[in-house]
Amino acid sequence: MSDTIFSKIIAGEIPAPRVYEDEHCICINDISPQAPTHVLIIPKKPIAKLADAQDEHQALLGHLMLAAGKIARQLGVDDAFRLIVNNGEGAGQTVFHLHLHLLAGKAFAEGSL
Ligand code: C5P
Repeated sequence: MSDTIFSKIIAGEIPAPRVYEDEHCICINDISPQAPTHVLIIPKKPIAKLADAQDEHQALLGHLMLAAGKIARQLGVDDAFRLIVNNGEGAGQTVFHLHLHLLAGKAFAEGSL
């Protein structure tokens, strides 16, 4: 997989303050926020997109979900947040290094995507 901007951020080559970091992932503020809280949860191991994940990534994917809950609690938005994964260009993915968008702080219409 070719290097993406997220690999460079993880490596510290491009500065981006960490909202959260642990052994397996980092969390940064999205540069173009779509909600008052909009952070990205990015595994340190690069997987281009969710559909490329394999059985061997099961623990990592679970870890990302648990990290999302932890980060939501840390940011005080654990009562109401939305997680989004864009998979593939047609779904709006622009950075081909798997990441979760965590959005909160605005009203999400009931039943809307
Ligand atoms: O799901 P998608 O691939 O479109 O998401 C990439 C996200 O990464 C975008 O929301 C974009 O604003 C964000 N981004 C960023 N910092 C960069 C480049 C992209 O926060 N330097």
